[in-house]
Amino acid sequence: MKSVYKLSRRFIHLQRYYSSLANSNADTTIYSLSSGHGKCGVSVIRVSGPRTKHALQTLISPKYEPKARHAYLKSFYHPQTKEVIDKGLVLWFPGPYSFTGEDSCEFQVHGSLAVIAAMLDALGRIPGLRPAGAGEFTKRAFYGGKLDLTEVEGLADLIHSETEAQRKQAMLQSSGTLSRLYDNWRKHLISCAAHLEAYIDFAEEENIEDDVVQKLNKELRLLISEIRDHLNDQRQGEMLRNGVRTAIIGAPNVGKSSFLNMICQREVAIVTPMAGTTRDIIESMHNFGGYPVIFSDTAGLRKQTQDAVELKGISKARECIQNADLILLIADARDLMKHLKVDNQIMLFDYEKAYLQQLDLDADALADKRVKLVANKIDLLTTLERKKLSQIENLLCLSCKEPATDDVQQFLQGFEGLLQELCGQPSAENPRITHARYRQQLERCIEYLNIFLNEYAPDIFPDTAISAQKLRNALKCIERITGHVSCDDILDVIFKDFCIGK
Ligand code: GDP
Repeated sequence: MKSVYKLSRRFIHLQRYYSSLANSNADTTIYSLSSGHGKCGVSVIRVSGPRTKHALQTLISPKYEPKARHAYLKSFYHPQTKEVIDKGLVLWFPGPYSFTGEDSCEFQVHGSLAVIAAMLDALGRIPGLRPAGAGEFTKRAFYGGKLDLTEVEGLADLIHSETEAQRKQAMLQSSGTLSRLYDNWRKHLISCAAHLEAYIDFAEEENIEDDVVQKLNKELRLLISEIRDHLNDQRQGEMLRNGVRTAIIGAPNVGKSSFLNMICQREVAIVTPMAGTTRDIIESMHNFGGYPVIFSDTAGLRKQTQDAVELKGISKARECIQNADLILLIADARDLMKHLKVDNQIMLFDYEKAYLQQLDLDADALADKRVKLVANKIDLLTTLERKKLSQIENLLCLSCKEPATDDVQQFLQGFEGLLQELCGQPSAENPRITHARYRQQLERCIEYLNIFLNEYAPDIFPDTAISAQKLRNALKCIERITGHVSCDDILDVIFKDFCIGK
């Protein structure tokens, strides 16, 4: 089939191939320390590229014939001094069965600064070898077709993961859960585009079914609905990856800084009886039951202040509220008690609204955020008052000054439940969007598909070739996520965050 589409695909492959040559200098052999810096029991030095075997033989013996994927204990010699540098394990991974897809090896040596320096010096003296740049091993794996961009980003997230849920999500993504989903959509779009092109080329001939257009429309509508479901995820994956941004807000002196200190179990923020002490946003990252939370302690919100620095702090607090995923609204339990009526539930809702108004915040503007009310200073209540408060559903009660183990435990349980709701559970069956760029491209993809469907209704008889371009644009959006199209701009951003040796 003389299809423009096929030609353009071929062009894309060629483009990626030449781009890979330009970008990764694949004819050079790279080496680097892949384990962490500093003294440790064992360090791993990686080598990848066509001269890997030569490097192995130079450091071990010219006659050494390594056995693929087996570990051997060997002495490593410096090529110039001929002295033994260290004794350690060597593993040989001939391409294409290696991480990068190239010939690669790993030296596992003692993790002393002197051993590592001598090994790197020895490798640097072998012609054709050079130190690896940041993320260069992974870049080679990408260009070698071993990983797509979602897997590359999953790997970067795995390296940076700090909590158990982050690890799970990154592990799933790096092993291809998102890649498979997007690749299915990509293949589906390729097949739709191919059918359309066949229709353009051979519409007059008998072997093309009449209902191609109807079938295409139906399939694309189904695809749009699948992508929409995927997009409609309350940003759970992104929140888990980036941490749940939690703003601690409230009137001055209600105990916001004390709350942050209690959670962090150290003095992160200054606590004083004077109103208006916190001006800058104080941030602190925490792990709650495997979920990452970034707390921001903010300036107390009040209308009646002329202090220029405090006003600046209040403006920063408002900005922080806008960017937050979750808002912990700290109130003084005594103030809350004043509003207590017979029907506690209604009271809570009214109180929250009135309190937000008092802070000059519009409850409606916060509608897309989770707001959780926390009643602090319960140590200043009578036993009866405490009992009454504890009966209110959905209210977290605390004393940051005299935290009782039970109250803290109850607070932590409630808070972890909230985080679970916000971030969900990473699963292989339901891979989630973890990067804003996926969301942007998927939204654009839907836009193109909708334009195509509007232009290409069976009863409109549009200019098919022009409409086909919309379909190709939709496909390109998915391919920009996975890296199937040339996307050097994205690559630079992604690999910039990788460490050397990965
Ligand atoms: P912020 O201005 O909202 O950050 O409030 P701070 O954390 O600076 O606390 C203001 C004052 O309230 C300080 O004197 C704290 O010791 C006191 N405070 C904070 N939490 C509690 C609490 O649970 N009980 C009591 N009695 N005092 C508290």
